[in-house]
Amino acid sequence: AEEFLLQSEKLSIVGELAAGVAHEIRNPLTTIKGFLQLYKSGNSQINALLLSELERIENITTEMLSLGKPQAIQMDTAKLTDIIENTVELLSPQANMNGIQFKLNFADGDFLISCEKNQIKQVFLNILKNAMEAMEKGGDIEISLKDNNEGECIVSFQDQGCGIPDEFLPRLGEPFYTLKEKGTGLGLMICHKIIKQHHGSIVYKSKIGEGTLIEITLPLLRQKIR
Ligand code: ADP
Ligand code: MG
Repeated sequence: AEEFLLQSEKLSIVGELAAGVAHEIRNPLTTIKGFLQLYKSGNSQINALLLSELERIENITTEMLSLGKPQAIQMDTAKLTDIIENTVELLSPQANMNGIQFKLNFADGDFLISCEKNQIKQVFLNILKNAMEAMEKGGDIEISLKDNNEGECIVSFQDQGCGIPDEFLPRLGEPFYTLKEKGTGLGLMICHKIIKQHHGSIVYKSKIGEGTLIEITLPLLRQKIR
């Protein structure tokens, strides 16, 4: 127990530090970016390169900021369908533009969990963003809720994207592990951290060229409501 406490204290210090540093980096970054955008007339190739690298730093700081302060967590009772619908609503303009449809399958009913709503929303956002980024040609993303009859709920996200090679699956969630040119490799790391805090787990199943299935298991607060 002592070891666990130490570990969680370390994590919270790292989280705070990361958020602090990210916040400090953001202001000068915005200034430099604005300046570069103003002076597009120079060498446009160098300009484009600098802007794209700055965007990368920007993405990293945004995700570092969302690490937040772990001790500020306040658990709440929430309906999973509410959080999912909320997240999908946020992403639907971007999905529409890219020919992506969200299919929600809540036939098994609704599920109550004890959670920090914004954190769980952050997890769903990160996962859906990845799914959308993997679907260059558009398609469907199916989100469904199931009872595993062991006091847990399984939230699954099935996309029709590029898929993930088997050998990469164990590395998902490692900080800075990314296969994207402009990726940060922080999205899934944050997901793993939050789901662990909620005593849940994440499983990945993927087929190259067919798509990826991500299943998040979370403890149920009560039996499902119909
Ligand atoms: P980032 O999106 O910034 O690269 P993430 O931690 O969100 O970082 O994801 C890590 C890597 O996992 C991605 O670069 C991508 O290669 C892979 N990945 C995650 N989700 C999917 C998905 N749904 N389909 C295909 N690849 C995925
Ligand atoms: Mg991502």
